[in-house]
Amino acid sequence: MKVVIDPGHGGSDTGAVGAVGFGLREADVALQLAELVGEHFGKYEGAVVTFTRNRNTSSSYPAPPAGLRKRIAYANNTNADLFLSLHCNAGGGSGFESYIAKGAPARTQRIQKAINDQVLSYLKGYNIGPHGQPAKNDSQAARSRIAVLQDTKMSAVLLECLFIDNAKENKLLCDRQFLDGLAKAIVKGVAAAFGLKEKVNKPKQMYRVMVDGKEAVDTAYESKINDTVTRAISSQKNEITIRKIM
Ligand SMILES: [Zn+2]
Repeated sequence: MKVVIDPGHGGSDTGAVGAVGFGLREADVALQLAELVGEHFGKYEGAVVTFTRNRNTSSSYPAPPAGLRKRIAYANNTNADLFLSLHCNAGGGSGFESYIAKGAPARTQRIQKAINDQVLSYLKGYNIGPHGQPAKNDSQAARSRIAVLQDTKMSAVLLECLFIDNAKENKLLCDRQFLDGLAKAIVKGVAAAFGLKEKVNKPKQMYRVMVDGKEAVDTAYESKINDTVTRAISSQKNEITIRKIM
């Protein structure tokens, strides 16, 4: 399952800037959230993640951002299954909402609902709810047409994660732990919609390397075993044994 994560804005385009909270920029929140979302996808089997922009195109303002057309072309060329665009809201209000393209297929609507369910249940713990009807289509957006939703070939969902100009929500958007929980909820929603399974961490097999009757190393890493053996050989030891332990 391939997902293209699209951190909104970037480069000279800061997105919305919070009037409170030391001028927190939407572009930076979106990027941080995107990285966390990427990390959480790593916990699921078969999830492949790419990004439409990275730190390089946001840290050096005013570097050119990856323009919308480029992002769309990139996503369409990767044959992704999902385009996930991350933003924060502004303009007075509170809460979470998500958008899909008007007329998007049932599959996309299901993905949107699965994400909404997980995110809203997470936000409940912070006494934050939806912004109006949480599942919207882009004809209900301020600009009434969202190119990254309409012009991408795969299922595409855009999340407006809280209001950057709302004092309480701005504070949360500055909190990495909060963002990590939000990222986890987003990925949980996607995983539910796509039936992704969490990776099982198998205990690694440990080996003990003995050199001339003495324990040299207990390790699960092949490279450490190799290093130990190489060292023992180069110092002309007589006996090297490698035995499975545990
Ligand atoms: Zn935005």
